[in-house]
Amino acid sequence: MRAVENTVTVDDVHTLMDCTEPDCDRPAAVELHVPWADNRLVCAAHARVLGRQDGIVADPLPDRGDDLLE
Ligand SMILES: [Zn+2]
Repeated sequence: MRAVENTVTVDDVHTLMDCTEPDCDRPAAVELHVPWADNRLVCAAHARVLGRQDGIVADPLPDRGDDLLE
């Protein structure tokens, strides 16, 4: 059998976490560095909203970052 190398696998799905915002069950895609609180993992949608606050740095997760570049 030949390996297919140009497709995305789901082998790393176990490393994904859900968004930490209440009432949100999307997979976390971004780590927010919050100076006045603990870092939190949020989905892309919440990262756009929360990332607008001064001081917060949105850091796309390495294995999910490509999904944000739309
Ligand atoms: Zn979310």
